[in-house]
Amino acid sequence: MAMQNSILRLNKTGLPQSWVTPEEAVVLYVKEQVLWSLGEDHYRINGGINSHGERSSLLLAPIIACEGDIGKRAFIPALSNRLLFRRDGHRCMYCGQQFDDRVLTRDHIVPRVQGGPDVWVNVVAACARCNSHKGGRTPEQAGMELLAIPFEPNVFEFMYLANRRIRGDQMEYLQARFTGQRCWQAA
Ligand SMILES: [Zn+2]
Repeated sequence: MAMQNSILRLNKTGLPQSWVTPEEAVVLYVKEQVLWSLGEDHYRINGGINSHGERSSLLLAPIIACEGDIGKRAFIPALSNRLLFRRDGHRCMYCGQQFDDRVLTRDHIVPRVQGGPDVWVNVVAACARCNSHKGGRTPEQAGMELLAIPFEPNVFEFMYLANRRIRGDQMEYLQARFTGQRCWQAA
């Protein structure tokens, strides 16, 4: 079974850096780069069997803060359809229906032909039908209403969007720092 990116790695100021696998976390522990950790819900990693026939094991915290100079740059959340559709709860932001990601499209609220940029605050998930009905118009010009105001995820929201298997402690840590007008609960 492939190791999942299931441990939330922070920098020493508490800003999320990435999801790492338990194996990667072990390396960070071994290199003594883990400064502090959070969460109760520990992962147990089984090691080898020692000369006394006992299996060693290591407990990993669900959230670890590490040394490192990453995080000095401003956080820029990469825009992708996968995360965009998740932000919008896999719903078309015009008709409100839920769709499979394969049939959702990225709609530019102010359309590209009118100079609308390809940025988080100008894009929403839309079904093909609504998107083609809207065409090269703004929602106002097309007489359509947006169901939610699109927002650019902060680093905490971004980490939430990037992982489908977030555990209780991690969710609590991230959610307390959400600022988006609405982070739809992912289906
Ligand atoms: Zn629609």
